[in-house]
Amino acid sequence: MSTLRISANLHAALLAHAEQTYPHECCGILLGSLGPSGWQVESALPAANARSSAAHNRYTIAPPELVRAQREARRLGLDIAGFYHSHPDQSAQWSSTDLDQAHWPGCVYLIVAVAQGRATGMNSYLLSGSSPAGKRFEAVILELGELAPPLSGIQTHGSGIQSQTETSGNSLRIPSSASQGR
Ligand SMILES: [Zn+2]
Repeated sequence: MSTLRISANLHAALLAHAEQTYPHECCGILLGSLGPSGWQVESALPAANARSSAAHNRYTIAPPELVRAQREARRLGLDIAGFYHSHPDQSAQWSSTDLDQAHWPGCVYLIVAVAQGRATGMNSYLLSGSSPAGKRFEAVILELGELAPPLSGIQTHGSGIQSQTETSGNSLRIPSSASQGR
């Protein structure tokens, strides 16, 4: 089973984003690098949920946001590692809709469960299989990075999140302190 490594404060920022958009789903794009045991997620770009209806149980990332993420990944020397979204008042287990809408084999899909506005857990899955009919989610072991990683790393990637939300301007602000809100 492959692993997904993510720093503790980026993990906290994803949970905070999921709480902020409750009772709607949040969604976003994960940037990282692929190592021998799996993805190391370095940065996350919150995306607006492009769904105007059923935003409580559906998410759609608009193509321009993907293009922007690809550009940002290139700038940082990273790749698109995958996607995250939340499940308001449901478990962090993937749904058949999630599998239908997953189109990036080799990428990870993170799901944050939110119960009554509080993030309660996170699952991660790797999309495998090369054909649309043969694709499937495989569970991935989530490995939290050390609680106090080097400051330079945190600030670089943390400010990435903030500037992203500032430019997309408004409803998706992630707290500047990633650890707040829990
Ligand atoms: Zn889902």
